[in-house]
Amino acid sequence: MSLADHTTRSFADALDDVSVGVLPVGSTEQHGPHLPLSTDHLVADRIAGALDNPNATVLPTLAVGVSDHHRQFHGTLSVSDETFERFVRETVESLAGHGVRKVAVVNGHGGNKPALERAARTLRAEETAFCAPWHWWDAANYVIGHADQHETSMVQHLAPALVDEERLVEAEQDGTESWGKRVHGASIGFDTADFTESGAVGHPAEGSAMLGEDMFEESVAELDAFVDWLADRPFEDLLAEPHR
Ligand SMILES: [Zn+2]
Repeated sequence: MSLADHTTRSFADALDDVSVGVLPVGSTEQHGPHLPLSTDHLVADRIAGALDNPNATVLPTLAVGVSDHHRQFHGTLSVSDETFERFVRETVESLAGHGVRKVAVVNGHGGNKPALERAARTLRAEETAFCAPWHWWDAANYVIGHADQHETSMVQHLAPALVDEERLVEAEQDGTESWGKRVHGASIGFDTADFTESGAVGHPAEGSAMLGEDMFEESVAELDAFVDWLADRPFEDLLAEPHR
């Protein structure tokens, strides 16, 4: 159940069963001419929201992430790496204060990864919480681009009214095959606008609601299994072992 839907008293009672926090995070950023700016937080929010696991409490979704590299595209919002890392770390610290010290961060946006990894390392080093980044595309074993067939399929499944189907071909034609731009061994694709006109990377026109449904179900099942894995382990067992 969602933490925010509890009263403070009913949450205190729920703590008899709940040992894992689930924190959905994403971004609000361009996803080509065909997908909503909400794509990354929408997907994370829905995956976490679909969990039906008595060990877990789902925290409110963080809808703005690290997206400075998309800023040339209208509507993109962003915070710095440091701000995002700190927001996640302090949110998890406050949850740990109620005794929930194992957390899965359900992430919908690649740009959040470095900050999430640093937050996780600090929280464990300080023995505050074990806070594992969980990226839906890794859980479902997909190598994703950006606003590509995988992300497009997810939104076609979860929120079809938000997909501009008439712009799929344009998204693909004015997009690019792979992330980044290289010249004589140098990586010079600092911003997505450097290498994709439409904002898409991959093959959005190959998306389908059916693929989206499969990926979504797979992701929810993997998250559910990971929550059980966390719930089964005492917090102390998840801390780093001293090596001698
Ligand atoms: Zn995305």
